[in-house]
Amino acid sequence: MHTLSRATLSLNGLGRCLIAEKYVSAIKIPNRGFVCAEHRDESGKNEVYDVIISGGGLVGSAMACSLGMDPNLEGKKILLLEAGNKKVMDKVPNTYSTRVSSISPGSASFLTGIGAWHHITQMRCKPYKKMQVWDACSDALITFDKDNLEDEMAYIVENDIAVAALTKQLDSLSDNVRVQYRSKVVKYAWPMPHQAADSIPWVKVTLASGETVQTKLLIGADGPNSMVRRALGIPTVQWNYDQSAVVAVLNLSEPTENNVAWQRFLPTGPIAMLPLSDTESSLVWSTSHRLAEELLELDEESFVDAINSAFWSNENQSELIETAGSLFRSALSVLMPSAGSPRQLPPSVAGISPKSRVMFPLGIGHASEYIRHRVALIGDAAHRVHPLAGQGANLGFGDVACLTKLLSQAAFDGKDLGAIQHLLEYETERQRKNLPMMAAIDLMKRLYSTNAAPVVLLRTFGLQATNMIPTLKEQIMSFASK
Ligand SMILES: Cc1cc2nc3c(=O)[nH]c(=O)nc-3n(C[C@H](O)[C@H](O)[C@H](O)COP(=O)(O)OP(=O)(O)OC[C@H]3O[C@@H](n4cnc5c(N)ncnc54)[C@H](O)[C@@H]3O)c2cc1C
Repeated sequence: MHTLSRATLSLNGLGRCLIAEKYVSAIKIPNRGFVCAEHRDESGKNEVYDVIISGGGLVGSAMACSLGMDPNLEGKKILLLEAGNKKVMDKVPNTYSTRVSSISPGSASFLTGIGAWHHITQMRCKPYKKMQVWDACSDALITFDKDNLEDEMAYIVENDIAVAALTKQLDSLSDNVRVQYRSKVVKYAWPMPHQAADSIPWVKVTLASGETVQTKLLIGADGPNSMVRRALGIPTVQWNYDQSAVVAVLNLSEPTENNVAWQRFLPTGPIAMLPLSDTESSLVWSTSHRLAEELLELDEESFVDAINSAFWSNENQSELIETAGSLFRSALSVLMPSAGSPRQLPPSVAGISPKSRVMFPLGIGHASEYIRHRVALIGDAAHRVHPLAGQGANLGFGDVACLTKLLSQAAFDGKDLGAIQHLLEYETERQRKNLPMMAAIDLMKRLYSTNAAPVVLLRTFGLQATNMIPTLKEQIMSFASK
């Protein structure tokens, strides 16, 4: 049954490469537990946990809260290990942080369920109601908004605030979840999937301090370079994009309602302006490494000019594309006179917050297996995406919700939490969700990385047509907002 679902999944994969990976991993299923088991067991006295989560970033902290809140898991021993310091926030900082995430309504309700969302809203977050995406090589645009403008399309939340909110919630769950900060894992030893005289029964975790602990289930939430994934030798399809993201906090020229997220696709990569307040927005500018480095070196005035020009300049447009695009638009408006949304103009930028400019290299990665015997991967440890659709953390929260549901049921049924059966269900369910999203994001990145006329024409017609079909837009919004 599992092999069948894997074959189905491969249809949704990221092209040839990924499909090949899926077949490779399908063949390997019976061998999943056979990973360099350590045969000596000198750890009989080590503390044994039901669940250890390795990595307390956005996704690992959410996992710890989610398990700690679940009534069926009451009494289970749960430990969260985080290499970094505890992130407490007694007072909301006056300045905005550069790292922000667009949190979908689906993720917001998940965070509400685990008791973290009200901490976020008490601190700071900015809802937005509309998104306009447009092409720098043509006039084509698409706007997403809710019919009822009282609904939020998504929320911009600073990552520091989200982690601080989860940390606060974890503090209130201290009876159920133990959290150890400054606890870097340096080694894992894996059990065999079946009884073997010389096999250790649980996953053994060694910390940099020399301390060792054991667990019936290890959840790897240790980010894109996951040590859990690497130590298990899980095949991963990954490549670096030829792009880095430059992020900064922008000061707008004048106060506005600022409830629209803006994204323009330049041939060098997308530039996005996400609302933070009436007067500030967050910049995520994905571009070539060379240009990203140049942007970091620019003085503030030139950097601001470069941003405004990236949003406003028509230098990438050609007469041919413009004429073809406007003919197509006219034809569409004859067929569907009331459809489509009017173009809105983005706010102009007047300055940036001091020291807010930072750059991150971008890549894509997908672990062909999310689970092994007594191990599950979640968040960026399992999948990493380009930020153009603002989905990385949202996909991670989806993993957390799914894994919690299955572990809760397993606990209710009195089953071993580390057993492969429900972990397989987790993998199948999540790969079905994550792979189509990853494929769509990768396709968008490729489609917009060129200014070759036939491709520009194709995407211009596609974007204009999509903008005229409300049901299609609704489907795209619902796909992205879960
Ligand atoms: C520029 C940019 C913009 C983005 N915008 C969005 C957006 O708008 N919306 C969205 O949903 N996503 C967005 N993302 C993606 C999002 O930031 C990530 O998907 C998310 O932060 C991943 O969280 P994580 O907890 O899985 O991994 P991480 O945040 O990488 O956390 C991993 C944690 O594990 C710890 N760790 C690592 N190794 C060990 C070890 N050996 N022992 C103990 N602890 C360890 C680390 O200290 C860290 O705290 C964006 C990403 C970028 C780069």
